[in-house]
Amino acid sequence: MSVLTPFDPSYDPLKDATPGVGRDYAPSYWRHHAGPPPQDDGPVDRDMDVDVVLIGAGFTGLATALFLAREYGIKATVLEANQIGWGCTSRNGGQGHLAWGRLSRSQWVKRWGQDVARRLHANSLEGFEVFQSMAEDPEIDCEPQNHGNLLIAHSAKALDGLKEESRLCNRLLGYPTRVLGRDDVLEGYIGDQEAQGAMLEPVGIAVQPLKLAYGYARVARRLGARIHTASPVQGWTTEGGVHHLRTPGGVVRARAVGIATAGYTSPQLHRVTAYRNMPIMANSVWTRTLTDDEVEACGFRSTVLTTDTRKLRYYYRFLPERRLQIGTRSAISGADAQNPRHLKVVHDAIARKFPAIAGIETPWFSHGWMDISHDMMPRIVQPDPGSSIFYAQGYSGNGVAFSAYASKKMAALIAGESLKEADLPIFNSPLPGHPLRPVRRLGQRALYRYFQVLDSLR
Ligand SMILES: Cc1cc2nc3c(=O)[nH]c(=O)nc-3n(C[C@H](O)[C@H](O)[C@H](O)COP(=O)(O)OP(=O)(O)OC[C@H]3O[C@@H](n4cnc5c(N)ncnc54)[C@H](O)[C@@H]3O)c2cc1C
Repeated sequence: MSVLTPFDPSYDPLKDATPGVGRDYAPSYWRHHAGPPPQDDGPVDRDMDVDVVLIGAGFTGLATALFLAREYGIKATVLEANQIGWGCTSRNGGQGHLAWGRLSRSQWVKRWGQDVARRLHANSLEGFEVFQSMAEDPEIDCEPQNHGNLLIAHSAKALDGLKEESRLCNRLLGYPTRVLGRDDVLEGYIGDQEAQGAMLEPVGIAVQPLKLAYGYARVARRLGARIHTASPVQGWTTEGGVHHLRTPGGVVRARAVGIATAGYTSPQLHRVTAYRNMPIMANSVWTRTLTDDEVEACGFRSTVLTTDTRKLRYYYRFLPERRLQIGTRSAISGADAQNPRHLKVVHDAIARKFPAIAGIETPWFSHGWMDISHDMMPRIVQPDPGSSIFYAQGYSGNGVAFSAYASKKMAALIAGESLKEADLPIFNSPLPGHPLRPVRRLGQRALYRYFQVLDSLR
């Protein structure tokens, strides 16, 4: 590992050309708990010619390197600006959902009709198995907890919505979800005082996300991949079909490039990914260890994944080590990330949901930039068939499980395979841009205000 530069909380993907060079990790509990990072190959220190480069060493870059090596014998080179798992990968809730992007299954039906929704659902189950097999691999060692997924209604009206969604899942998709009443939630799972009921999905695995990334990195390197940390791509030209990627330590020339930079993608990196995602900040806190009395008073009876139904939703989970992890949407810009009001929003939520621990110490508070796609669906594509550039992005806040499948498919595309499911909406078009690009953040501010009102009314 290289010498670290301090973490910069004000980094902003729409303003800064790269997320830094060799920066330390965000102050997350996962980092504290994961142990030392695995061995990497240090910064690029000379010009080099390689076969495949993956830019970004989060779940996507690392797992794509793993699949390229394991399934195609291709030993990729991963270029990471900072550290292994440094981006969202080390800062998320560790909730492995059965979610392809941010749309609900009923929204799939509205947008594409029943047949495509059924195929997307079948595809998501198949893809989840890819994640499950990785998460449960002892070599990867990421503390998986397999309990399903609880979507908590924060109001009576939201519960009506969940009842409809559950009916659609059960009848149209044959996906056996269950609606729970408030008492079932409180007595069986979690004592969230705001819960009016919930929808329980059978599929959902919680993990320690940074240990998952470290596991991916270890396996990928054992199979021959190289991971260069402190090696941001600062310039990119293509000559005669060869990509020249400029890093501080040398130029890396590659036959093919997979972009795995998600919410940390600078518009300057390459035109194919410029402004194709909206980087949106989400945050998370982790409490100190709870006492037996606090666990009992909060009704923490399970470590099931939990999200509420607000538009500006909270995601939370009681961890096996007896801490609460909880987070939500945060600042609009990097410059405002450390504003204490964002931490207060999370503390207020703890007080409402779990009054017995109102005001509790939260020794870890971090935030990350999610890659929200403009149509809320992710993509795994080669945007221009004449150019050997690929990307997997737009996970829209649901990348823990999906990234495993996306990586497997991006590896297949890089290896030159055609996909049998290529006509599905996650493969058949690039990420859309946005017509009001220059004023997207103004729109985001207005939308958050609107969502706050909506969340208080429904
Ligand atoms: C607070 C929070 C909570 C979340 N909770 C959940 C959850 O519970 N469940 C879920 O499914 N998803 C969750 N997510 C989303 C999830 O974390 C992401 O979808 C996922 O980590 C994306 O992984 P990735 O590898 O694609 O990108 P990232 O992990 O973001 O990695 C991108 C990497 O690219 C590197 N990079 C960028 N530019 C360059 C460059 N020019 N050169 C070299 N390297 C570069 C960055 O340094 C970074 O390490 C959450 C996100 C946040 C912020």
